[in-house]
Amino acid sequence: MTPRPYILAEANWKIVAATDYRVAVLPWGATEAHNYHLPYATDVIECDSVAAASARIAWEHGARVVVLPTVPFGVNTGQLDIKLCLNMNPSTQAALLRDLVASLERQGILKLVILNGHGGNDFRQMIRELQPQTRVFLCSLNWWTCVDPTPYFDEPGDHAGELETSVMQHVVPELVLPLSEAGNGSQKRPSIAALRDGWVWAPRPWSRVSADTGVGDPAAATPEKGARFLDAVTARIASFLIELEATDPATMYD
Ligand SMILES: [Zn+2]
Repeated sequence: MTPRPYILAEANWKIVAATDYRVAVLPWGATEAHNYHLPYATDVIECDSVAAASARIAWEHGARVVVLPTVPFGVNTGQLDIKLCLNMNPSTQAALLRDLVASLERQGILKLVILNGHGGNDFRQMIRELQPQTRVFLCSLNWWTCVDPTPYFDEPGDHAGELETSVMQHVVPELVLPLSEAGNGSQKRPSIAALRDGWVWAPRPWSRVSADTGVGDPAAATPEKGARFLDAVTARIASFLIELEATDPATMYD
């Protein structure tokens, strides 16, 4: 295997010194329980896979993008009582992001895409605070919302449901237990109507919401569904990376 020049963890100084990278991609996952059948690194593995496939397509179109190592810890304040769910608070994430952006800025890599893979992470407020303090153009996306999942799945689900399970069955089948061993991912709803209807938001205390830690039924998952959805997602993200690489953010609204 030769190193992929768009994956920083594989690239060496010889490659890096010779390449004029224009866009960095920072995948950001979480380490948490995913029903009985998916591994704790599910969000990290998905991020790795989506980022690498998207960057490969962009690279093949001539866009000089580089995928940074995936941050393995996400905001899991609602899962603190679930064994080995490892929380990183938003304020810690903001500090980590600030340090990484400062490195990129000094090195002249002035565009950063945060590729988020965990529902508890939200980088928008961090970007609002950090953007006026740096020349690095900052943006974020949630990979699972890049493409409408409804044509691809019977019921995509929220956490370790049909969407995530299908993707994992495609990417790392060896790490996914048979679906006969998965829980049904049923969730308890809050008693307050506005929270049930979703126009008032509060974080969910996970262990009171789900018995198996999943939210969403994985029963209809297949690797073929995962492959088709990932193809659509990575094509869309790649086209964005290509456009971003070719755009000067300073004149983006002119
Ligand atoms: Zn997940």
